[in-house]
Amino acid sequence: MIDMIEPFENMIKNPALKMTEENLKVLQVNVGKLCNLACKHCHVGANPNSTEIMTRDTMQQILRILPNFKTLDITGGSPEMNPNFRWFVDEASKICSNIMVRSNLVIMTEENYKDIPDFLKDRKVEIIASLPYYTENDCDRQRGKGTFRAVISMLKKLNSIGYGINEELSLNLVYNPGGAFLSPSQNELEQEYKKRLRADYGIEFTHLFAITNNPIGRFKEFLKRTNNYERYMKRLYDAFNPDALKGMMCRFQLSVSWDGKLYDCDFNQPLNLMINGVQDIRELKEIHSRKIKFGNHCYACTAGSGSSCGGATT
Ligand code: SF4
Ligand code: SF4
Repeated sequence: MIDMIEPFENMIKNPALKMTEENLKVLQVNVGKLCNLACKHCHVGANPNSTEIMTRDTMQQILRILPNFKTLDITGGSPEMNPNFRWFVDEASKICSNIMVRSNLVIMTEENYKDIPDFLKDRKVEIIASLPYYTENDCDRQRGKGTFRAVISMLKKLNSIGYGINEELSLNLVYNPGGAFLSPSQNELEQEYKKRLRADYGIEFTHLFAITNNPIGRFKEFLKRTNNYERYMKRLYDAFNPDALKGMMCRFQLSVSWDGKLYDCDFNQPLNLMINGVQDIRELKEIHSRKIKFGNHCYACTAGSGSSCGGATT
């Protein structure tokens, strides 16, 4: 069945769409694979024992090139667990006014991290929080027992300090499917999440991003284990939407891994698909348009309404 799938790059008929834009907007930084959780769908394979953690030296290199970008997107692992997280955000906030942090929120309920909500608020950092579903069972099945309740308590705390309420304190949630299927419509799901979280818990948030699971890392292992890998790839291929090509996030960003290596996106990191050109942030002098490195996992970005770290792209 998988033989019927055309190499992804052959689906891009317009050569300009194989290249990044000349002026990149987003610098995405993965500060390490250390995480308090070990979710089933994790594409980076993050876990509580990981030693792959970005150093302050590498962060300094990131601060050097940050003025070239409009947005800094910090991810992990659980980025808060990097020992230099607070220092890095603080320094970055002096250079860049648009910083986002991707958090599982559970970490902020733990003793050594309870200061983080106010720390981020003081620097007007946008929070992007994963919440695979608005019901306890579905959420805990994917992320581990007790995670739903921890996230709900943290969302209430964040609302109480203005996140998801004040315009300048964005609190966005991320939905991703709990199995080998595609996301439903982002707009409809956002309305459903808003209605249920408001009615059940009095929680408000800014937007919902519906993300398609990328068939790599632990999610790929899950697909293989359950005999769903080929079916899932075929599903992504059948749902290919050419209109989603122009919104592929790799066209607007540079992605840095915990060790300072450069990629087109976070999904290419576990696949070791480094960018064309200079591949280490320590050697990066100038940023130009480059040809993107694609693979068949890219079908996850162009299925249906398209998918990126910011949700649907069409
Ligand atoms: S999906 Fe996010 S919260 Fe879950 S293990 Fe991976 S990095 Fe951690
Ligand atoms: S997986 Fe990465 S390289 Fe492939 S289309 Fe998506 S963002 Fe671009």
